[in-house]
Amino acid sequence: MPAFPALRADGLIKNYGSVRALRGVDLEVKRGEIFGFLGPNGAGKTTTIRCMLDLIRPSGGLIRVLGLDPQADPLAVRAQVGYLPGELNLESNMTVSEALSYFAQLRGDRVDRLYMSQLAEHLALDIDNSIKNLSRGNKQKVGLVQALMARPHLLLLDEPTSGLDPLMQQVVYRLLQEACSNGATVFFSSHIISEVEAIAGRVAIIREGRIVQEASPGQLVEMAMRRVSVRFREPVDPSPLGRVEGVSVLSHADNQVKLQVAGTMDGLIKALALLPVQDLETERPSLEEIFLAYYAGGDREADIYAH
Ligand code: ATP
Repeated sequence: MPAFPALRADGLIKNYGSVRALRGVDLEVKRGEIFGFLGPNGAGKTTTIRCMLDLIRPSGGLIRVLGLDPQADPLAVRAQVGYLPGELNLESNMTVSEALSYFAQLRGDRVDRLYMSQLAEHLALDIDNSIKNLSRGNKQKVGLVQALMARPHLLLLDEPTSGLDPLMQQVVYRLLQEACSNGATVFFSSHIISEVEAIAGRVAIIREGRIVQEASPGQLVEMAMRRVSVRFREPVDPSPLGRVEGVSVLSHADNQVKLQVAGTMDGLIKALALLPVQDLETERPSLEEIFLAYYAGGDREADIYAH
């Protein structure tokens, strides 16, 4: 396998006039991984993907796609990439099958009709239907089939499950996992944490044009704080617990104390061992909560239970 990563961005900057859409994005996506690119609306996901294909020119920074410079060699890059844009322009007087053949010809590919039909079948897409009759979700399926059908080395997908019902979302996850097991790299943008959790091996969170966190979905949860609720056999003074490093007391009523713990649980467990504990529950934040902390203007130290 070649030594270069599937995707690399160093200090990527994009200004639209006075709008600073990307403010120095650094990313490295390894070959063969499924990488989730998470961010709220307007964070810069689409801009990053379009820069990778040289559909728009960055204002600064470096990009490499499969080891190639998209500005120097855009056609070579696009030939190896299956791209699903946020909004696909489709010629309305064609059938789905004609539109897909047209896309394949644009890439200079011979259409693997069997694979195309299989993908359409998995997605419950009627390829004889006319484009003008398609719902938004069915148009999204056409976009997905055209991105996948050439079995590209790299899939760059802008919100791949947008407009699809939950059942179809599962089908898309399966197709992406299959593409990955067959050696493809998948880079997809999303603002839905659960889908990133479901399929991504690693995730980068982008917010206001900057990557604010990069990790595996599991690591993100590990890094976040936990909430611990302790019931005591009798009323206790919780102040010694609040003095343990990384622990703060959220509330205290009757025999119940709610705490927030950053880092390891060791100090808290030792402090609790000196008290008459009846019951203890710990709760990990979901990625949703972690994400909300970033939305809320927080940084790495964001208090995820503050809202
Ligand atoms: P969404 O989830 O809504 O698609 P996104 O994360 O893909 O959002 P981008 O579309 O990359 O975000 O937009 C990043 C920022 O750049 C936003 O502030 C957006 O308004 C701005 N922007 C995007 N395209 C243009 C443009 N052509 N001209 C001016 N500003 C733009």
